[in-house]
Amino acid sequence: MINLVLFGPPGAGKGTQSEKLIHKYGFVHISTGDLFRWHTKNDTPLGRRVKEIMNSGLLVPDEITIAMLKEELDKNPNAKGFLFDGFPRTVPQAEALDKFMKDNGTAIHYVIALDVTEEEVRNRIAKRRTIDNRADDEEDKLNKRINEYFTKTIHVLPYYESQKRLNTVHGIGEVDQIFKSLCEIIKT
Ligand code: ADP
Repeated sequence: MINLVLFGPPGAGKGTQSEKLIHKYGFVHISTGDLFRWHTKNDTPLGRRVKEIMNSGLLVPDEITIAMLKEELDKNPNAKGFLFDGFPRTVPQAEALDKFMKDNGTAIHYVIALDVTEEEVRNRIAKRRTIDNRADDEEDKLNKRINEYFTKTIHVLPYYESQKRLNTVHGIGEVDQIFKSLCEIIKT
């Protein structure tokens, strides 16, 4: 079993690379952003709780996010491995994830951060906005999301770094080249 965390700011390419990694390694993909979007789209009680928060570009409180993640793990007892995309975004989330892995006799084997500058991220999302129509890609909301990343989520990096678990991949360039760099880390 291999478990991997793919880390990076909004627009870093986590979604694109996740798809390729799942195809190659057969991970169960857990994207908390996709899960929250599913709940809001289907108007579930959880969806109703988080809709406003998400649409304004803020992080959903840890308690809600961690509970949803745990439920998702429990739904996949036979997974060959998990790819976590967009989780953890805070240190308490990272701690909870380690605990869940440990309780299941496993661990997070790789943490890979896609290193992309803020300028690149802004350009990419401006482009995506013209194609995808995500409510939280509007400019003021995007600013909040980027702000949440650089004020809160960034602190997850030293958490993994201090445990010598952090790998960084340069996230600007050809999609296939970035994918190759990710695969090289997973192989080691
Ligand atoms: P992004 O493009 O900003 O990386 P995501 O699709 O991963 O977007 O997430 C969309 C929104 O869902 C976030 O702005 C946040 O409101 C919520 N969200 C997703 N994952 C988490 C998380 N781990 N903790 C808190 N909120 C989250």
